[in-house]
Amino acid sequence: MFLLSFCSKQQTGAREEVRREFVLGTICQVRLYGQGSDLVYNRIFARLREIENTMSVNMADTAVDRINRNAGAEAVEAPADLLEVIERSLFYARLSGGAFDPSIGPLVKLWGIGTATERLPSGSEIASLLPLVDYRHVEIDRERKRVFLRKSGMALDLGAIAKGYAADEVAAILREAGIRGAVIDLGGNVFALGDRSVLDARAGGRALNWRIGIQDPLKERGTYIGVMEIRDKSVVTSGIYERYMEADGKRYHHILSSRDGYPVANGLLSVTIVADHSIDADALSTAVFALGYEKGRALLESPELKGIAGQAEAAFVFADRSVRLTAGMAEYFAMNNDDYRLED
Ligand code: ADP
Ligand code: MG
Repeated sequence: MFLLSFCSKQQTGAREEVRREFVLGTICQVRLYGQGSDLVYNRIFARLREIENTMSVNMADTAVDRINRNAGAEAVEAPADLLEVIERSLFYARLSGGAFDPSIGPLVKLWGIGTATERLPSGSEIASLLPLVDYRHVEIDRERKRVFLRKSGMALDLGAIAKGYAADEVAAILREAGIRGAVIDLGGNVFALGDRSVLDARAGGRALNWRIGIQDPLKERGTYIGVMEIRDKSVVTSGIYERYMEADGKRYHHILSSRDGYPVANGLLSVTIVADHSIDADALSTAVFALGYEKGRALLESPELKGIAGQAEAAFVFADRSVRLTAGMAEYFAMNNDDYRLED
């Protein structure tokens, strides 16, 4: 039954399985499996462009760009969605003691990893920018809806959280449209909405999990270390393989230490987070990666986090090919790659 109806939809071409567009600096893909209309897809991608036009630092005259250009000079008006994302990023900055820092902009720009201007900066260039990276100098005026960066030269970069926010926005659009099962993938920032039973006549009322592969950080894209079985949750990975450059025979990836200004080096290859909301999974994947295993695990246990994000789980992949899971993660994740070994 399922296959037949599936084929006829394919033949008429009336209903798209998936739509893919380059936005937010990455390939964004939404799979509605024939349940959506053109209208729904259009609404989704229009919202993604709107978020990009507000939060990108790689486009001229976005609200974030205006905030950055007025650093040290004056407070700049920001739309509600941007204020929400900045506030959440400051929560994660406080929670991680600044390991996650949305004011990392000057360093991201200096390295330019993944852009046309990427290069290995000198130690003194890095040192000169470190005083500008400090989330405590980001001021939000909620009443007047303004953001002020206290020091001239400061700059926000929301690259570690904006795609998560965007995935939650897509999920909201889909729920409003009555779609009960879909997979949103914004450059590896995944939201598995609802469950898979809507697509499978054999489900017979049972909820079926989505299956999401977790990338092997050392192999070409599409090689997995294991599979995540989840429903109505977001899964996000931060790793050394997402974006990097090579210089002097060394590899430099794009998650930077706010303390020394160099790519974080702590033995981790990747951190995968499962959470109810993608904004939290995205911020946490970067924050926990930046903190490292011990401190990252402690952060995941903290009551402050649970109050905001609920129960979040993590899978840690190390350079020695060991993998460690939080207690709840063991229920979602099954390893299926012999190159890696699970440890307690
Ligand atoms: P991806 O963008 O590949 O999904 P992440 O969510 O981990 O990966 O975000 C990495 C991006 O976050 C970087 O490209 C940069 O824009 C920004 N960033 C880098 N280091 C930090 C940091 N310590 N705190 C906050 N943001 C960071
Ligand atoms: Mg992130």
